[in-house]
Amino acid sequence: MAAAMKTAKTKQPTKELCDWSKAQLRDHFELLESIVAQPKYVCPKCGRAANAKKWLCKAKKLAAGND
Ligand SMILES: [Zn+2]
Repeated sequence: MAAAMKTAKTKQPTKELCDWSKAQLRDHFELLESIVAQPKYVCPKCGRAANAKKWLCKAKKLAAGND
C-alpha cells in the first residue's frame, strides 16, 4: 500500500512575498528564486525585491533597472 505520507506542501502563494509564511518560503523556494533573481521592484516597507509589482505590498521601481 503506497500510503507514504506525502509532505504536504502549502498552497502556491499568489500574494505578496511580504506576506508569505515561512512554510511557503520553504515549500516554494524555486518560485521565490524566480521572483527575486532579477528584481525590478523593491518593497521599501519590507526590504524585499521582486520581478513584478504584484509580489510586493509597497512596490517601488528599482532605480538601477536597465530595461
Ligand atoms: Zn512589503
